Amino acid sequence: MPRYPLRALVLRKTKLGETDAIVALLSSEGKNVRAVGKGMRKPGSKVGGRLEPFCLVDMLLYSGRSLDTIVEAETVEVHRGIRSDYDRSTAAAVVVDVLDKLSVEGLGEPRLYGLGLASLAAIEHAPAERLEALLVGFLVKAMAMHGHRPVLGSCAGCACDTLHAADQRFSLAEGGMLCRACKPRFHDTAVLSPEARLLLDRLFGMTMQQIASDTVELDPRHVSESFKLMQAFVKYHVPARIKALDFYARPTDAF
Ligand SMILES: [Zn+2]
Repeated sequence: MPRYPLRALVLRKTKLGETDAIVALLSSEGKNVRAVGKGMRKPGSKVGGRLEPFCLVDMLLYSGRSLDTIVEAETVEVHRGIRSDYDRSTAAAVVVDVLDKLSVEGLGEPRLYGLGLASLAAIEHAPAERLEALLVGFLVKAMAMHGHRPVLGSCAGCACDTLHAADQRFSLAEGGMLCRACKPRFHDTAVLSPEARLLLDRLFGMTMQQIASDTVELDPRHVSESFKLMQAFVKYHVPARIKALDFYARPTDAF
């Protein structure tokens, strides 16, 4: 049977039978790959221990009739700092869950892979109070790659550029702000204040590393507002349910 090498990010692991598992991966070409890890849930399995979510791995697979099988796996990056921290692993779970739902089998989007790696690195090393802003940055970039870049500087209904401070309606269906004239025509709308709109636009233009840096000032209220908007926007356009995103609560919510 033909064997081939694959470098990929581990997104998810599902039990299969007594000791096997199906692993969902994002390949370095940005394709969604599902492969079987035989015996990887047996205690002491070398391959199994390396195929945990958030890990970047180099693998050797052989092609099967339906699913390919993972024969060998070497860890490239483990992200221990994410694994050992509840808030970071909750944020990283949103990243891998969204990547799993946005990536397609057989159709590569290499930018999605690059964004995934940059987002996990930033989540591992950023100050904890930056996690929500990192997720907003990740979501707005991922949605843009998916063909849904939010329209923030003009009206998404009529393309006019006369947005005023009072225009705070964002159409989920049209994917952008609405001017006063267009507002009554759309019903699937969410509120977005001018400050949160500016912040969302800023985060879109920043790298994940820049968002992680605490030298840049970001108002947590506007970060939260833009996070809620992106949560609703993703939910509107991605048919599959993204549980980690639905249940995400930022670290300070617990206090
Ligand atoms: Zn308009």
